[in-house]
Amino acid sequence: MTTHPATNTTDASTWSPMSWQSKPVTQDVDYARHPEHPHALKRALDKLRSVPPLVTSWEVERLKSLIAEAQQGKRFLLQGGDCAETLADCRPEQITSKLKILLQMSLVLIHGSQKPVIRVGRFAGQYAKPRSKPLEKKGDVELPSYFGDLINRADFTEVARTPDPHMLVRGYQHAAMTINFIRSLATGGFADLHHPESWELGFVKNADLPDHRKAQYHDLMERLADGLRFMEALSDNAVHESSAVEFFTSHEGLNLYYESAQTRTVPRRDGHYDLTTHLPWIGERTRDLAGAHIEFFRGIRNPVGVKVGPSADPAEIVRLIETLNPGNEPGKMILISRLGAKNAATALPPILEAVRDSGHPVLWVSDPMHGNGQTTATGIKTRSFDNILVELETVMDAHEAAGTILGGVHFELTGEDVTECIGGASGVTEASLTQNYASLCDPRLNYQQSLELAFLLAGRFRAARGS
Ligand code: PEP
Ligand code: MN
Repeated sequence: MTTHPATNTTDASTWSPMSWQSKPVTQDVDYARHPEHPHALKRALDKLRSVPPLVTSWEVERLKSLIAEAQQGKRFLLQGGDCAETLADCRPEQITSKLKILLQMSLVLIHGSQKPVIRVGRFAGQYAKPRSKPLEKKGDVELPSYFGDLINRADFTEVARTPDPHMLVRGYQHAAMTINFIRSLATGGFADLHHPESWELGFVKNADLPDHRKAQYHDLMERLADGLRFMEALSDNAVHESSAVEFFTSHEGLNLYYESAQTRTVPRRDGHYDLTTHLPWIGERTRDLAGAHIEFFRGIRNPVGVKVGPSADPAEIVRLIETLNPGNEPGKMILISRLGAKNAATALPPILEAVRDSGHPVLWVSDPMHGNGQTTATGIKTRSFDNILVELETVMDAHEAAGTILGGVHFELTGEDVTECIGGASGVTEASLTQNYASLCDPRLNYQQSLELAFLLAGRFRAARGS
């Protein structure tokens, strides 16, 4: 058990899993749009309070200890997945291909950084989305925007767009099915490091990935298998311990009804745990110091991420850290910068310096996706691979200059062969965006683009190590 004071013991008299309701709720859900739904909300929350948690406090504490090591530069965090997970995507093919791309990227990053990688999926609960406008208008009809499958449905009809509390229960059920499958895959043969060939996605063999990357990847896999055989020969034992891989879950903690209904105390530990996920994060739109989200997240024991956009005031970010982690507990705070390629060089240094000078332990993660959105002339939301790379490089330079550590990356990606982001080795162009554009929300890196980014990052790590 940690010797650091539990964050929720500060001001414990006023914090409770529901104390967020006394604060302004940004991106609140209008459950009263339907006259029956306030009753249905109570039923849904009672149900969520009574069912087993999706994760355990042991796993949450383990992740926190790994993040504490990443804060010291001993590990690297890879976080990735869909912008918006959907209930319809809760299918074995989709889940395995997400695990495979995260596994492959982590392998490339381990090789480049020579550090263990903490794998965190944006999955098993990434169902709630903040929107820039609460309402969407088509012709004369105005309806609530689509806020993700935890809240309403994407079809543009009154019934689909009316927030339905039962979706909270359906979201929980699909998260449970997803995490159940992920746990089985991670402990079973699929993620056995002795057989990296079984993680290969079908289309790696296709011609799309440049030949030198394919060769680089296969070379890496062979070296990994060789290394394991060597270790086993040395110790005369199978390398069971290190041969299974771990995955953690994360999602934006946007719907505080859902989060708080699964927040509980557990035997023989202090404080409350949000057991919907290992790592919840607070979005750029909901990190108001005086708002409901900060109130809720200051009281839980999980590690917490906060997205930091280009308009963030450095002094306010320090106050946020003090509020969310008053006991300065290592492994607790993650700051995820998402600035945009053109803002990163000016916006990041003052934030890095203010946090560094405050002495608070944080894990710095770069999300080079959310500041780089653009819309084509025909109205398609996309991002350019080049801008994503420029932001990553700028962020790495800024950390080097400030003497801080970039300890992780956060991507929107998929193991599928989609055409949502432009550029990279996969050659997606503005004209080919419509070929396989599947995201209901933000555009994701496809398989080739994701692996390409991992190789580019790994190359930069190797160069920094001088090898
Ligand atoms: C997201 O991660 O999908 C998101 C909405 O991010 P941000 O809060 O950084 O805009
Ligand atoms: Mn997004």
